[in-house]
Amino acid sequence: MLRTHNCGELREQQIGEKVTLSGWVQKSRDLGGLTFIDLRDRYGITQLTFNMDENAALCEQARKLGREFVIQIQGTVRERSSKNDQLPTGNIEIDVDEIKVLNKSKTPPFTIESETDGGEELRMKYRYLDLRRPPLQEKLILRSKLAMQIRNYLSGEDFIEVETPYLIKSTPEGARDFVVPSRMHEGEFYALPQSPQTFKQLLMVSGYDKYFQIVKCFRDEDLRADRQPEFTQIDCEMSFVEQEDVLDTFEAMMKKVVKEIKGVDLPKFPRMSYAEAMEKYGSDKPDLRFGMEFHNLNELAQGKGFNVFDQSDLVVGINAEGCAEYSRKQLDALTNYVKTPQVGAKGLVYVKLNEDGTIKSSVDKFYSQEDLQAWADKMGASKGDLLLVLSGDTNPTRSAMNALRLHMGKELGLRKGDEFAPLWVVDFPLLEADEESGAMHAMHHPFTSPKVEDLDKLESAPLEVRANAYDMVINGVELGGGSIRIADRPTQEKMLSLLGFSDEEAKAQFGFLMDAFEYGTPPHGGIAFGFDRICALLGGTDSIRDYIAFPKNNAGRDVMIDAPAKVDDEQLEELHLKVVKK
Ligand code: ASP
Repeated sequence: MLRTHNCGELREQQIGEKVTLSGWVQKSRDLGGLTFIDLRDRYGITQLTFNMDENAALCEQARKLGREFVIQIQGTVRERSSKNDQLPTGNIEIDVDEIKVLNKSKTPPFTIESETDGGEELRMKYRYLDLRRPPLQEKLILRSKLAMQIRNYLSGEDFIEVETPYLIKSTPEGARDFVVPSRMHEGEFYALPQSPQTFKQLLMVSGYDKYFQIVKCFRDEDLRADRQPEFTQIDCEMSFVEQEDVLDTFEAMMKKVVKEIKGVDLPKFPRMSYAEAMEKYGSDKPDLRFGMEFHNLNELAQGKGFNVFDQSDLVVGINAEGCAEYSRKQLDALTNYVKTPQVGAKGLVYVKLNEDGTIKSSVDKFYSQEDLQAWADKMGASKGDLLLVLSGDTNPTRSAMNALRLHMGKELGLRKGDEFAPLWVVDFPLLEADEESGAMHAMHHPFTSPKVEDLDKLESAPLEVRANAYDMVINGVELGGGSIRIADRPTQEKMLSLLGFSDEEAKAQFGFLMDAFEYGTPPHGGIAFGFDRICALLGGTDSIRDYIAFPKNNAGRDVMIDAPAKVDDEQLEELHLKVVKK
């Protein structure tokens, strides 16, 4: 071994011991007679000292070491005269006898310390250097620990981890597929899985009963901050279960993991229907760390001569408690916020319930003090509070109010990083209609079963049919979602036909699954979690990118290896892809 200890483990107990350490030169300080070097590895930092009076040649050698040189030293542990209580090794230092340079380093393009001066793009290009920094190391270590715990938990519950193929045929999860041209089969393509959905269902047909896999999935979507074209799921499926069994199993898993990683006991997860979530929070993934529920003001606010409200499908308000003191400037900022294209509202109505009992609003012309007091009563608001009201078509208004609620929650410090508010959102609609074409899509995916009690509406009012589908949400983040599946051929055929598949198309795409359903299929259901998202939530950051060793940037590129990239003509020809010459 090139070391007797790592750079994070020496303490006062080892004073007097001869040791060998290896690591990277993080920093060196030259104080005339004395030179200090911080030697770093993934376990920590140990201070090395060199004394000009005692060994001038060695001291000279130490001074020549550049940042990020990889060295091996031998020396004796001794007590530090000026201790550093910020470092676990801060009571000791190494009095070095010998240095060996294992490898040199160019000067790194940014500082490799907890706080760095490197910009985002530069750090992505030199990701292997960025990954040396402690905050990133902590994140990948958290990820590894989490994966271990999940494997332990699930295998303790008799789940078996089975690998499913990456070169498959398209599985619809609502995104575009990444396709891979086949060399051996001209003009044919594999697709990379958007999820192992059909395979895990086939494993249930095969009798595996409880399956899981920590697995890469690929979706060719437009990128957003918390999306990556390849990401990791904890994918699970169970046989002979009903919805409650799935929810219980995975609620217990999440509780265990959060307890072990964060030391926090999660409460029992409340259940909320999709309809209630949309009505109260304008979102199917409400952040329940704070209240500020929506209140419908249609009855109170319409018919009083204020055209904007009268012409709206929905007039909805939230109560920002204790915000009556908001200044003109603050209110203008909120108005500008709701008018940004991402939020999309046309304007914002406010009502201030002043401490002196007066009420001041931006619609005083149309509403008396009594009218406004009635709004306040309906919203449970009192003196000192500020009511914020939006109006318009139902869906866009709900979604704008959701944005405003989250914005206010953040502004008021109500979305605390160390609090966890979990819930299950249940009873999702089975189908949704495309706004432009009117075509119906499966809201979850085409293998999700409708609720038995809604089956009679499948033909007459398909959009009202609810699904046996559920999402786990914590702090406004959808961590996972799943459903109880369709397990027989006729229902699956009917579902695909509702979604606009002809019989031939349905057979061509999903014949294998429907054939399998005819050979003794157990009732089954499951769920998949976004593993990167769980890491980010437990690690306390918004972006999943930090938890992925080698992520893509915002444009879906890996700027380190420079992918995607062109391939040469020969390769294209071999793949039977036409070479288009310019
Ligand atoms: N395959 C689904 C997804 O990726 C999860 C599931 O239904 O189990 O969202």
